[in-house]
Amino acid sequence: MLPLELTLVVAATRNMGIGRNGTLPWTGLKKEMAYFARVTKRAPSLLNQDGNPPGMNTVIMGRKTWDSIPPKFRPLKGRLNIVLSRSHAEPLAKYINAETEAVKVGSLEQAIQYLQTGSTAAQTGRVFIIGGAQIYAAALQLREAKRVLLTSIMSDFECDTFFPLQLSETSTQTDGSGAGRWVRKSKEELDQWTGETVPDGIQEENETRYEFQMWERV
Ligand code: NDP
Repeated sequence: MLPLELTLVVAATRNMGIGRNGTLPWTGLKKEMAYFARVTKRAPSLLNQDGNPPGMNTVIMGRKTWDSIPPKFRPLKGRLNIVLSRSHAEPLAKYINAETEAVKVGSLEQAIQYLQTGSTAAQTGRVFIIGGAQIYAAALQLREAKRVLLTSIMSDFECDTFFPLQLSETSTQTDGSGAGRWVRKSKEELDQWTGETVPDGIQEENETRYEFQMWERV
């Protein structure tokens, strides 16, 4: 089994609101969405050291988040898409065309198993959990969940769905699973991990203020 690390990617308000009526509470954050696309697509350079081509990254999401993506944009391009649903009971197909279809699994454990075994293992790049709340909650229970790439939205939005972990400098960031504490990493560490110079400080788009952050479990 290959070791596997899960990185959660989320945009959340100060009280960790992430969704409303099955969609995002905000609109028009084009640069924020472009950041999400770049970071989740970029292959980690570390995997290149053995001379092999980098693997394709994976995005894992819940069925409701998949449903919220307009059909013409899914599967999300340049990444292996894995979708969780309790109704996905069919046996896993080992070979899929990642450009046109998603892997359907019945649990997060099954998704991880899919990535760690068999023919996909050698090509696996980074693995991102991209929501929604139910899938974040399942992922945070696993010790493989090591990192959160948080876009901290500083403007207020009404939300009905929330990230199940409070990440803010003024609170104690425990996740309830007893599996550790979360600390904010520096801008340099964020740049190094993402492989780009991430815009620093408060950003503003469409009258919405936000900041790119990285948190790790210690
Ligand atoms: P999810 O996207 O987490 O999907 C939930 C569905 O996933 C369930 O109904 C079930 O599918 C399946 N599922 C959940 N847990 C499991 C499990 N343990 N095993 C197998 N299948 C499972 O839905 P949420 O309602 O929590 O989140 C959606 C909201 O979050 C939307 O508003 C969306 O826009 C928002 N969002 C926000 C993000 C952000 O960064 N701000 C990112 C992603 C989403 P089934 O019913 O088919 O069995």
